[in-house]
Amino acid sequence: MKTILFSLVQPAILAVIILFWSFAPAAWVNNPNSILIAIISTTVLIQALEWVKERHVGWRLTWREFFTDVFYVVLGFTAIDFMTTHLAEDPLKAFKVAMGISTPWVAHMPFLAQVAMVIFLIEFGQYWMHRGMHNFTPLWLVHAPHHHITQLNAMKGAVGNPIELFLISLSVVALLDVPLVAVFCAANIGVAVSSFAHANVRMDPPRWYAFLFTTIQHHSLHHSVPYEDTRCNYANSLILIDRIFGTFRPGEAEVVGQDDRKRLSIREQWMFPIVPVIAVVKARRAQTPATSQ
Ligand SMILES: [Zn+2]
Ligand SMILES: [Zn+2]
Repeated sequence: MKTILFSLVQPAILAVIILFWSFAPAAWVNNPNSILIAIISTTVLIQALEWVKERHVGWRLTWREFFTDVFYVVLGFTAIDFMTTHLAEDPLKAFKVAMGISTPWVAHMPFLAQVAMVIFLIEFGQYWMHRGMHNFTPLWLVHAPHHHITQLNAMKGAVGNPIELFLISLSVVALLDVPLVAVFCAANIGVAVSSFAHANVRMDPPRWYAFLFTTIQHHSLHHSVPYEDTRCNYANSLILIDRIFGTFRPGEAEVVGQDDRKRLSIREQWMFPIVPVIAVVKARRAQTPATSQ
């Protein structure tokens, strides 16, 4: 009985999010803080569920993990959001105006269809960016810090090198005339699904949910230690995309990390892509006196 109830938690939270945004008064939607409050509340709720029914003792949140995770959540709402707005969305909106792109048909779609379309567009872009990160060394170097985390928790989706966090936030949604409320609902659902996909929570959802949405089983497998085993289940929230493009793999992992499973500090996470470049420069400098003699 308890297992059935727990299995309904994730679909129920998605239903509440949809209902909330369906009936949210216009004043709430137009308040820029509303999406912030909704996303923070969703994250806090899923984080709290780790103390209701944890998945693995080894993933239990320590203070060090907690403060690192909070640091990245705050970074996401501030610097990364600033970069995404000014370096990606504003230029895209200017391009839309300059090219005369107009999509009035979007406003006539049912609310749920608008939300589904936004989720699909965001996820489709993230899927290919993420897959590229696992197939192209320079991109892997910016994504690898996310894979060096040695345990999974609700806020771990926010942890990574800032360049990666910026790249993974890119989407083409700004080219369409989607009502703000549908964008907020889609973003809120994305955060809920990806937080659950990283959370140390044993509340496995029903099969239909796991067919469509990414779960902790799918994503923990993506966080496997052998690099080759990470090359599957790329979708942040919509695992259906992996099923379509043949990168889906069933299974689950408990031991997560990369290489020797050394936990990286925030400084190491930020320096990670630069370290090989510094090594090459140092090696060249070391060679220079020898060759000039
Ligand atoms: Zn990855
Ligand atoms: Zn992850």
